[in-house]
Amino acid sequence: MSGIIYIISAPSGSGKSTLTSELRRIVPDLEFSISYTTRPPRGSEQSGREYFFIGREEFERMISEDEFLEWAEVFGNYYGTAKRFLREAAARGHDLLLDIDVQGAAQVKCKAPDAVSIFVLPPSRQELERRLRRRSEADDDLQRKLMGNSARLFNTETIIQRRLQTASQEIENFGQYDYILVNDRLEESIDILKSVVEAERLKRSRAVLTSKDQLVLAVANRALRQPMMPQVETILTTFDLSRFPAVTE
Ligand code: ADP
Ligand code: 5GP
Repeated sequence: MSGIIYIISAPSGSGKSTLTSELRRIVPDLEFSISYTTRPPRGSEQSGREYFFIGREEFERMISEDEFLEWAEVFGNYYGTAKRFLREAAARGHDLLLDIDVQGAAQVKCKAPDAVSIFVLPPSRQELERRLRRRSEADDDLQRKLMGNSARLFNTETIIQRRLQTASQEIENFGQYDYILVNDRLEESIDILKSVVEAERLKRSRAVLTSKDQLVLAVANRALRQPMMPQVETILTTFDLSRFPAVTE
C-alpha cells in the first residue's frame, strides 16, 4: 500500500502535460487524477480523458456537496480535484498524481502535508512564449481540420499574453514546492521526474537500499528546491522578477 500524493504545478505552456503523460506511461502504480473544469475542450481533448468538461452550475453543485479535495478559479474557469480519485487510488494501493495550479497545491498541502510537490519551470520566458505559440498553432490546425470554417480558434494574442502574465505570478510561488524541475531537454526532465517519484517511494519503504536506489535518490536530491536555487534565480531574471520571492520552509 503506497498512497503518496504527487502534486505537479507549472505555468501553462511549460510542458507539464507532456511530462505527466509520459510519467504515467513509464511509472507503475501511479494514477492520474482527472480534474473537473468549466473551460471548453482544447484541440483533441476529450471529456473523461484530459478533464471532465462540465458546466458552471454542475461545478457549483459539486462544491456545495463537498465533492472536491480542492478547487480554484484559473483564467476565469473553475478547476477541481474530486475526492473520489484519492479514495479510489488509495483503495488500489496506488499513488496519485495531481496536475493542479498553485492555489490548489496550497490547499492540498494543507490537508495532506505529506504530499510531494513539484514545480516545473520553463528554461526562460522566451522559451515559454515559443511553446505557448507552438501549442496554440497546433491546436488551431487541428480545429480547422476537424471543423473547417466553423472552427473555434485559440491562437489569440490575448490568451498568450494573459498566460505569460499569469506565469510570472505563478512562478513567484515556487518557494511552496519541495522539488523544482527545469523542463529544458524533455528526455532529461522525464528521467528526473521519474527519479523523484521513485525516490519518494524509497524514502517511505523499509527496504535496504541498493546502489541503484542510491543513484535514484542522488538524482532526485539534486532537484530539491535548495540545490536548484542558482538555476531558478537565472530563470527568474528572464521574467523580470527582481523581487526575490518568499521561500517557505
Ligand atoms: P502545459 O501542460 O504545461 O501547459 P504542454 O505539455 O502542453 O504544456 O507543452 C506546451 C508545448 O511545449 C507543447 O507544444 C509541447 O509539445 C512543448 N514542449 C513540452 N516540453 C518541451 C521541451 N522539453 N522542449 C520543447 N518543447 C516542449
Ligand atoms: P489548462 O487549462 O491549461 O489545462 O490548465 C490551466 C491551469 O489549471 C493549469 O495550471 C493546471 O495545472 C490547472 N488545473 C488543472 N486542473 C486543476 C484542478 O483540478 N485544480 C486546480 N486548482 N488547478 C487545476
